[in-house]
Amino acid sequence: MKYSKLVETYERLEETTKRLKKTEIIANLLKETPEDKLEEVLYLLQGRVFSKWDERKVGMSSRLMIKAINSSTGVSPEKIEKEWARKGDLGLVVEDIIGHKKQLALFSKKLTVEKVFENIQKLASLEGPGTVSKKIKLVTELLTSAKTNEAKFIAKTVVEDLRIGVQDGVIRDSIAQAFLPKKVEIKEFVKKIEDAYNLTNDFSEVAIAAKKRKLKSLVMNIDKPINPMLAIKVESAEEGLKAVGSPAQAEYKLDGFRLQIHKKGEEVILFTRRLENVTKQFQDVIPRIRKNVKIESCILDSELIGYDPKSGKYLPFQNISQRIKRKYHLEKTAEKIPVEINVFDIINKNGKSLMDLSQKERRKILEKNIKEKKKEIVLVKRIVTDDAKKIEKFYKESLGKGNEGIMMKNYSGCYVPGRRVAGWVKLKPVKESLDLVVTGAEWGEGKRVKWLASFTLSCRNGNSFLEIGKVGTGIKEKDSELTFKELTRILKPKIKSEKGKCVSIKPYLVLEISYEEIQKSKNYSSGYALRFPRVLKIRNDLSIKDVDNLIRVKKFYDEQTK
Ligand code: AMP
Repeated sequence: MKYSKLVETYERLEETTKRLKKTEIIANLLKETPEDKLEEVLYLLQGRVFSKWDERKVGMSSRLMIKAINSSTGVSPEKIEKEWARKGDLGLVVEDIIGHKKQLALFSKKLTVEKVFENIQKLASLEGPGTVSKKIKLVTELLTSAKTNEAKFIAKTVVEDLRIGVQDGVIRDSIAQAFLPKKVEIKEFVKKIEDAYNLTNDFSEVAIAAKKRKLKSLVMNIDKPINPMLAIKVESAEEGLKAVGSPAQAEYKLDGFRLQIHKKGEEVILFTRRLENVTKQFQDVIPRIRKNVKIESCILDSELIGYDPKSGKYLPFQNISQRIKRKYHLEKTAEKIPVEINVFDIINKNGKSLMDLSQKERRKILEKNIKEKKKEIVLVKRIVTDDAKKIEKFYKESLGKGNEGIMMKNYSGCYVPGRRVAGWVKLKPVKESLDLVVTGAEWGEGKRVKWLASFTLSCRNGNSFLEIGKVGTGIKEKDSELTFKELTRILKPKIKSEKGKCVSIKPYLVLEISYEEIQKSKNYSSGYALRFPRVLKIRNDLSIKDVDNLIRVKKFYDEQTK
């Protein structure tokens, strides 16, 4: 299949912001795509060549891409970099450069979807000496055979920044539209596609099955993670009860990290909430799963929580977070920061989905089949009640133990993967916000290229300022007082210096920032970093004298680790 066909689709998708139009464009492409090419086409439409949970990563940085552009066009890296800072998108830079060097395409053969897919996939398998030059060669091979517009999308895919505005929902609807059987309502079929996706987490697999009319044959697979169920925030036990119904199951909300456990006989695979495979990083928990989970094959939902090996005291998330990204010395770290598995759900048992069973029944299955052992594997602590007062008491008890709060779950509700629905709610204390000053920023990319889009925040330390994090969340594109445009308007006159896309800014603008947690960090001069910072408002009423100081940051940090 010609790559130009896909590029034509990308271009049409770029031209519209309308969801229905996008759906129609993709559905038309899918109808015309041969069955054996659906896999590649669906991946490339999502700007990827591997599934979300695949351990392989393309791993081509923008810097390396600049070298590949240099190698295929002869344009100097400095010039490419300058253009990149101006345009904010390497795809546009390549398009422009190759557009001026049309002769390249004259000697080339036609690019196919398969060839593009294959070369980009190969980037992930390269290791050892000579990797850089081999990577450059693979990309250069594509770029020199590409027409101008093809090169643009190759570059965007290689640096994993496609940006054609195609969300999962649009892909789902397009598959439904493309392969809708006669006499079936579109709404009903969309739901079937969604269910199939929730089982497999793979649109390619779903599209092929839909085309073959074999959606029913799709099953959950031990090597594929499920999108975990998520919770909505509530402010009180009473509000929680209203949302999930009575009686509710209230559970400790532990301050660890989500772990989806897939077991098939002796084989165990572990996934994070973001569907990353972390089996290698947590080898220490595998033997206890084999030993204490008395089910041949299953998918469990759990929270891993770290503890101090000496005192046995449970530790907050930031202590085990370092275990997730680790590549080396895994055994040593496992000894230093051991973890306990707290199981709270079961999604599949011996190949059969349990998602439609009630919370009550799923918990019963867990109790029957998991042999609990403290500091190894336990079921999360819970109560079942219709009394808001009892839940408040349980909430206080949970906070007293250093947990984040509680979860409240619909006792007769099923497991709804991948969505925040009222079946689960979370209750946790509201953190005090921090008033911080902007001391730096980065110019945006794509449609934000004219605006500052990521802002460096600092707290006060005497008369100087120390960095504590970067924020881009909470700011709107339009229709708000808090837009990128407005922040850029205020900050632009305060720019002290610029280097590439980064600017240094004179402390002036104070922002009120919320966050999930304060962590210790070597990345910022304050020694702290904010987890999930979000801009709440511009504090025109505050001057830089009012910016929160390091002592207050430290106080908040200490309070949360108590
Ligand atoms: P949040 O990250 O605030 O949206 O809260 C949801 C997260 O809380 C989940 O993704 C889990 O990692 C974590 N969690 C801790 N305890 C539980 C529990 N008992 N049930 C479900 N999730 C839990």
